[in-house]
Amino acid sequence: NASRLKGKTVLLTGASGGIGAATAILFAKAGSNIILLARREEALAKVAAQCKAAHQEAGVKEGGKFHTVQLDVSDKQQVNNLWSKVPADLRDVDILVNNAGFVLGVEHVGDIAETDIESMFGTNVFGLITMTQLVVKDFKKRQSGHVINIGSIAGKEPYAGGSIYTATKHAVHAFTASMMRELVNTPIRTTEIQPGMVETEFSIVRYRGDESAAKKVYEGFDPLTAEDIAEEIVWTASRPPHVNIAELYVLPVNQA
Ligand code: NDP
Repeated sequence: NASRLKGKTVLLTGASGGIGAATAILFAKAGSNIILLARREEALAKVAAQCKAAHQEAGVKEGGKFHTVQLDVSDKQQVNNLWSKVPADLRDVDILVNNAGFVLGVEHVGDIAETDIESMFGTNVFGLITMTQLVVKDFKKRQSGHVINIGSIAGKEPYAGGSIYTATKHAVHAFTASMMRELVNTPIRTTEIQPGMVETEFSIVRYRGDESAAKKVYEGFDPLTAEDIAEEIVWTASRPPHVNIAELYVLPVNQA
């Protein structure tokens, strides 16, 4: 029931495009406030404007505060400095969505650039953990909150050319599942969403900007859309308080 999201404050990483942008718009429609984080400031501002329009169109009274912060989740200092950039009335976050993440390249072990390894782990793992540590501290004080981490089919199914990315997503799985066990018997919920193939800029990033290589991935395939995963995220967040969707594995029908 999306009405449970009215007036809630969502902290969302990777909000400037793809799954994150679609998720922001759905939370906006449901009457939530959102702190939108990503590195590209202009793209973030566009998504915030789309949120405003979606919120107005939905005609909900609650929520409607959309605040952007240009931030690289892999930069610990920037993350630890976050609250100084967020208005006081948005600092009590109800839902953290750790969505920022990417895969860079398809190289095999031995040929992978050190910088690619560091940047994938820096964002997908350390960024997600730093954000979670920051927010869960407050969740524990307030005895409420929900952490939703975006894992992947790559956190279940290793593949050739994906050693580092699959290692990062296996780490997201282990981290989220351990945290869930730590928080059992508290009202604080933890969820891992594991999408299969979704058509976003993800593939363009993987192929380092080569759009035709990126497009080929989806040829003869009917991938999920960013909105499909956004719907699952918002659905998960809107379950009754005693229901914890621990994991949600979402695939297009032609992937297994
Ligand atoms: P996109 O490339 O479209 O979006 C990724 C988002 O993450 C962008 O908003 C990007 O914004 C942001 N981002 C990346 N690095 C950082 C960083 N260091 N700090 C802050 N923000 C960052 O990809 P998707 O929407 O598809 O990906 C979202 C999540 O879904 C990722 O975790 C991905 O691993 C996961 N996923 C995707 C699948 C797919 O097939 N697309 C399948 C399974 C999982 P900016 O560049 O402005 O920082």
